[in-house]
Amino acid sequence: MKTLNDFNFKDKKALVRVDFNVPLDDENNVTDDTRIAAAKPTIIKILEDGGSCILMSHLGRPKGVQEEFSLQHILKDVENLIGVEAIFVSDCVGEAAKTAADNLEPGQILLLENLRFYNEEEAGDKDFAEKLSKLGDIYVNDAFGTAHRAHASTAVIADFFPEKKCFGYLLEQEIESIKKVMETGEKPVLAILGGAKVSSKITIIENILDKVDHLIIGGGMTFTFVKAQGGSIGDSICEDDKMELALEILKKAKEKNVKIHIPVDVVAADAFSNDANTQIVNVKEIPDGWQGLDAGPETIKIFHEVVLQCKTILWNGPLGVFEMENFAKGTIELGNSIAEATKKGAFSLVGGGDSVAAVKQFGFEDKVSYVSTGGGAMLESLEGKTLPGIAAILE
Ligand code: AMP
Repeated sequence: MKTLNDFNFKDKKALVRVDFNVPLDDENNVTDDTRIAAAKPTIIKILEDGGSCILMSHLGRPKGVQEEFSLQHILKDVENLIGVEAIFVSDCVGEAAKTAADNLEPGQILLLENLRFYNEEEAGDKDFAEKLSKLGDIYVNDAFGTAHRAHASTAVIADFFPEKKCFGYLLEQEIESIKKVMETGEKPVLAILGGAKVSSKITIIENILDKVDHLIIGGGMTFTFVKAQGGSIGDSICEDDKMELALEILKKAKEKNVKIHIPVDVVAADAFSNDANTQIVNVKEIPDGWQGLDAGPETIKIFHEVVLQCKTILWNGPLGVFEMENFAKGTIELGNSIAEATKKGAFSLVGGGDSVAAVKQFGFEDKVSYVSTGGGAMLESLEGKTLPGIAAILE
């Protein structure tokens, strides 16, 4: 696996695929610069070697050229975070981009315009990838957020750098973190899968049963499992067509000696609303007209004990409707348990969509070992897939 440290960038132009797909407000201000900050170590290493950086990224989902998706909006943030003045060029290929890249001096940064202003990017077009490849000497992929896409700048381009391609520090860290959970992690290994639906997590569950000792299933998924086993779930969300599958998962887990933990009690509400009336009920005895929206106190206690006996912990998906204050407790308490286990030496990885949002919202970011920067990419990794952006560097 080739990484940044395998190269000296002195007098080299590094063509770095970053994931600067950051959220912007109505006035085009960056509202969360995590992804820019995450690319900083890679950029600094290249500059400190005496090289220069040509940064390429997508932003949003533009249809052709749309000013609101211009990377110019994030230029100031890049400069502030990296601490170096950056040059912006209003195209990512063509004359202007080539000239700007050719004129780049060691120590300088060039930010290219949004790759997705060209349909060729997402189409994985070879000619477009070749044009991009002409801008730099060494290709560095540091964009985990798009590593599951076989786009021109994330995968196809690597063919034009047979010997001169590598992972950036961020991507390397993401790969190592997933490996720690899926392959090399100290036992007992625990996966916590929450969130809304079984259907969106099923491939992960199937893949992960071979890797873990404990599996906590929480959130909306709970009720498909409970109903499948004959429980009354009231008006809780449930995928009836997945009940058969849920039973199969339980059976497989038993065969593989994986201990599955499902909530035993829930906070039930008489409406899907923060102002709803609530009561704590047994998960198998939820009255009609009521729905389980968070883990109950007994469940929180049991999950706490499971978490604290594990040495490697993966967390994906909230335990309840954490967006509503009255149903956030299960998710917050789980975060506390994971933080405590981490403090005692466990390795904890949080990744994939809403759990990252929850971790940030409740301030657990610095209390877990690693928070992944990729949503879809993380989920596909957990499904056991080889991501095109990673495969392209390894080939
Ligand atoms: P996912 O994207 O699959 O990880 O699902 C995250 C969503 O699941 C969040 O928006 C939560 O509000 C939702 N969720 C968690 N628990 C429940 C529940 N008991 N009932 C309905 N939605 C839930």
